Amino acid sequence: MLIVRGAIKPYDWGIVDGLAPWSEPTGEPQAELWFGVHPGGPSPLVDENWRPTGEHLGDRFDVEAIPLLVKLLAAAKPLSVQVHPRRQVAVEQYAAQDDSGPVIYTDPFEKTEMLVALEDFEAFAGWRSADQALSFLASVEGTESAVQSLRTGKLADAIRALLELGSPERIASLPAAARAAGLPPEQVAAYETVAELYPDDAGALVTPLLDYLALAPGEAVYVPAGVPHSYIRGTGLEVMSSSDNVVRLGLTSKPVHVEHAINALVPDLRPQVLRTSHGDLIWPIDSPFVVRVLRAGDEKILAGSYRIVLLIEGDATVHSVGAETTLRQGTAAVMDANDPDAVIHADGLVAIIQSTER
Ligand SMILES: [Zn+2]
Repeated sequence: MLIVRGAIKPYDWGIVDGLAPWSEPTGEPQAELWFGVHPGGPSPLVDENWRPTGEHLGDRFDVEAIPLLVKLLAAAKPLSVQVHPRRQVAVEQYAAQDDSGPVIYTDPFEKTEMLVALEDFEAFAGWRSADQALSFLASVEGTESAVQSLRTGKLADAIRALLELGSPERIASLPAAARAAGLPPEQVAAYETVAELYPDDAGALVTPLLDYLALAPGEAVYVPAGVPHSYIRGTGLEVMSSSDNVVRLGLTSKPVHVEHAINALVPDLRPQVLRTSHGDLIWPIDSPFVVRVLRAGDEKILAGSYRIVLLIEGDATVHSVGAETTLRQGTAAVMDANDPDAVIHADGLVAIIQSTER
């Protein structure tokens, strides 16, 4: 068992000092705190007094031993409209990249993720019903070509058309179009946010195709690779396979790769929304991980798979043969498959994440 802190990512969509309770204040946007071995943000090891040892988790483990990446995420404004590649796409595209072009794929791994809300959280994820998307776009002037493509089931063509048509006037009309389509006030407000923050980002015009969802604390959305999404606002726990492969369609200052994103989409795949509460086992169908955010009490986690226990609030101790560790808020106990069984005692809020792959 090793103890780590998170590696901070100060992306521009983060909340100013939004992750300070689990790291330290910087006076700047704090978007993500990474707990894992991904080279994009390897987690520092700490000693029993929570002081950095100078080593990182990746110095002790191979990438294969740590199959999951866990993040705390604080979104002040919408993240990019993105899609993550499935395994086969990641392997092929990573291999096809050469030194002359841009690095689009950072690793050859699938990225399947789940967001567990720690406070009220809003997201676009998956596709709206065709009827709803069509009635929305009917109120955005000059989008007939996209509407036609959508009507005939040509989703990729509809996306390409909308990206071409993403003018400031059309983007500004999104909230009114959402209202005209009969969408509820919280969705109209989400489009107001998009139009206000991304007034000339053509990707804004793709968001009417995406389904909207609101999560209460404890609820989760599982987003398999191939499903488009854009997290809008809130603080959450994110669990994913250990990959940083993101292909973007818009709402970002980062590069957009439309054809790569379209290639990575799996149109028939849906996100799974889990209306769980803290304490429930969160186990989406076909998920490579299972999560429980424990409030109080004991939980035994068995040897044989990768496990990580992250203290979000309050106190927690991890007991196993020959080791008893007290966690501090923002530190995590990491156990690989060979580490013994462990019992977690929680009094607060502790995220227990286990790989389901043995
Ligand atoms: Zn994502």
